[in-house]
Amino acid sequence: MNPLMFDAQPTHTPTPVIVALDFANENDTLAFVRQLDPSLCQLKIGKELFTATGRNLVEKLIHQGFKVFLDLKYHDIPNTVAKACKVAAQMGVWLVDMHASGGRRMMEAAAEAVANETHKPHLIGVTVLTSMEQNDLREIGFQAAPNELVCNWAKLAQSSGLDGVVCSAQEATMLRQEIGKAFLLVTPGIRLNTHNQDDQRRIMTPEQALNAGSNYLVMGRPITQAQNPVALLRQINEHAQHIIQAA
Ligand code: C5P
Repeated sequence: MNPLMFDAQPTHTPTPVIVALDFANENDTLAFVRQLDPSLCQLKIGKELFTATGRNLVEKLIHQGFKVFLDLKYHDIPNTVAKACKVAAQMGVWLVDMHASGGRRMMEAAAEAVANETHKPHLIGVTVLTSMEQNDLREIGFQAAPNELVCNWAKLAQSSGLDGVVCSAQEATMLRQEIGKAFLLVTPGIRLNTHNQDDQRRIMTPEQALNAGSNYLVMGRPITQAQNPVALLRQINEHAQHIIQAA
């Protein structure tokens, strides 16, 4: 094996799935979560659910033992983002994200704000949204190719003290080679078979994404709409276990 490739292998977790709770209200969310167990997966609360339910639901799920990713993609002046991250830390959130394009001072302020918290969350930078293509970027003033921007923003996030980035699994191999193994790669756009895309474009299967170097797989509809979400999570965890044993 190429020693460089080996060096880029991340530390995988046996439960890599973060289930995106893209529900509109607390009742639907809790009805779905009731069948899950914190030993099977992590949970993600995004803008819709958080706007509907606030910190109450986040704290309820943490109280049930789940690790919660608060996916609010902060992007504001350094002081505001730092304070928001501090509150997230005090709520007991496990992972919180912000746009890397908010810049070095914003990310450094966030890292400093949580450094001494008892429950220090992982801070994750959002690179280029997977919904954006070259033309969209050009229109808002970025001439670089999406891959180049992802790489630059991931390096900026890393040197600003963040713990990882959200990116497409298709960028994971490149990022592992550019920034090494000790940086979390959190990847949405996961599908069980590549024929069913929904509205996602650059997709990979769980196994492909983990092999490419992804640490955590953000999965919404493939899990929430599955006939048997628990069986599916167990199956993905088995794949992860094989990858860990083979490393
Ligand atoms: O249902 P699906 O698996 O496509 O859900 C993916 C989840 O990941 C959604 O909550 C979506 O908002 C989120 N996400 C994404 N692409 C990003 C960042 C987050 O799909 N770049």
